Amino acid sequence: MNSYDVVVIGSGPGGYVAAIRCAQLGMKTAIIEKYSTLGGTCLNVGCIPSKALLSSSHHYEEATKHFADHGIEIPGDIKVNLEKMIARKQSVVDQTTGGIDFLMKKNNIDVYEGLGSFKDATHVNIAKNDGSTETIEGKNIIIATGSKPSNLPFIELDKERIITSTEALKLKEVPKHMIVIGGGVIGLELGQVYYRLGAEVTVIEYMDRILPTMDAGLSKELNKVFKKAKCKMMMSHKVQSVERKGDEVIVKAENKKGEIVEFKGDYCLVSVGRRPYTDGLNAEAAGVKINDRGQVEVNEHLQTSVSNIYAIGDVVRGAMLAHKAEEEGVFVAETLAGQKPHIDYNLIPGVVYTWPEVAAVGKTEEELKADNVDYKVGQFPFRALGRARASGDIDGFVKILADKTTDEVLGVHMIGARCADLIAEAVTAMEFRASAEDISRYSHAHPTFAEAIKEAALAATDDRALHV
Ligand code: FAD
Repeated sequence: MNSYDVVVIGSGPGGYVAAIRCAQLGMKTAIIEKYSTLGGTCLNVGCIPSKALLSSSHHYEEATKHFADHGIEIPGDIKVNLEKMIARKQSVVDQTTGGIDFLMKKNNIDVYEGLGSFKDATHVNIAKNDGSTETIEGKNIIIATGSKPSNLPFIELDKERIITSTEALKLKEVPKHMIVIGGGVIGLELGQVYYRLGAEVTVIEYMDRILPTMDAGLSKELNKVFKKAKCKMMMSHKVQSVERKGDEVIVKAENKKGEIVEFKGDYCLVSVGRRPYTDGLNAEAAGVKINDRGQVEVNEHLQTSVSNIYAIGDVVRGAMLAHKAEEEGVFVAETLAGQKPHIDYNLIPGVVYTWPEVAAVGKTEEELKADNVDYKVGQFPFRALGRARASGDIDGFVKILADKTTDEVLGVHMIGARCADLIAEAVTAMEFRASAEDISRYSHAHPTFAEAIKEAALAATDDRALHV
């Protein structure tokens, strides 16, 4: 029987990063993945393919709606070749997952293809895809089995017309009318892909705003963008039923007045969140506790109820984000090596890759109010930036929330061009406990979108913004 210092179950960004860091630290490491490609949800059916389609559809939107403003004239019609777009997306996925194969080899990590299930606290059975089984031993085991799309109990997903994000990444036609249930990150990103490609899109959200966990100012601004694109944004609507009739999908939802409203489309994307995934893992055999939300229970060291078994990523509490899973993978590897790593969960940024992009880190205004924190706000609109006007990306703003007494930055919330990248500056500043004045006093290249951060910091300190 093969024996390892560490066995990782699941090869998503949590699992493969944990395996690499364990190997770097000199541990003999194995990784088990039930699918034939490594990389988990993120690389195969999540972050990477969705960003590939967002990029392609953005190019299409630019070409059809904005090139003319720049004096670029394209003779003849511009058409979408969805088959080619999806094939390109797949080749991006293939290159990326292939990169993980390379990294496993480079780090001498043994890869097992098959479903891993606990035999006991130090042994994992692998049911291989060729029908054979093998048992391997791990002194330590890391559960990184991720998540799957969740559903509402009364919705029957046929995966053709009533679909999850996984199917939405490989549609064979542009929907005529896509009904998106759930105005969270995934629903909005994929909704934007398809409205750009010509679909009518209706977003039905149970809460009173899209992106309900983000700062309300961001929700409002992104809602405007979707409305400008003629999407129907149905807030405070509770979906009651989803029914397929031939090629038609009928969604019924109850509005605030208690009336039932009917929506008819040809595709319905159900994006109501994700659930932690432990099916087939046989966690009980090892004594690993799963809580009533389906998450593997962990302490602050990401250790489960069994001391040599750890769990990371979407399968444990906290934000379901690839970079959070990666941080946890490194954290557990370094803990196993006897180091004392640290993760500040308050400083894990959240990003929505629509255009304009939405990004945030730290506390929202709603949270600061609830915690009775005395704070001040500095906000700066992108439209006041030369760089934004030069590129034609004038929507959005940067908002900095700082402690009223100490001036420490407590939260940064932004919507606008390139915010997914700009948020890194806010994370860095907050990691070093910068004050708003600190940010306002270091130089930002001109003309850049990043100047909006400096200007918002100036606005937060005695209303000193220079360009509004
Ligand atoms: P996963 O990536 O889910 O990987 C778990 C792996 O474990 C899977 O490969 C699974 O097959 C395997 N597995 C499960 N059980 C077993 C078993 N018993 N034996 C063997 N293998 C097993 N996050 C971001 O940060 N940025 C984004 O832009 C982003 N976009 C997204 C877009 C979409 C459409 C979706 C669906 C998700 C997106 N996410 C994004 C979320 C991100 O994909 C997840 O947070 C991330 O993949 C979690 O990583 P993980 O390692 O915990 O689990």
